[in-house]
Amino acid sequence: MPKETRDRRRSAVYLRVWDGERLLYVHRVEAEKALGRPLPEEAVVHHYYGNPSTLVICPGEAYHSLLHARERELALKGKTLKEILNGPNIS
Ligand SMILES: [Zn+2]
Repeated sequence: MPKETRDRRRSAVYLRVWDGERLLYVHRVEAEKALGRPLPEEAVVHHYYGNPSTLVICPGEAYHSLLHARERELALKGKTLKEILNGPNIS
């Protein structure tokens, strides 16, 4: 997807904050705080299953698209990525 189209779609959905010079996406600001440094420009911040408080920093759009595809695939099987990563729940 072209960057301009992606930016237009994001601006319609995600919260932004003014830093005195420019509008920044809140989820990118939060990811930079967690990371402790600025995100590379090509990095994409994924909202894990659409959850605004669980962010995954992806190195680029290809990895981000892969996460979405994997989440959709698992959802069809009634599972989440978290369940897969945590393994079977043995009690
Ligand atoms: Zn995403």
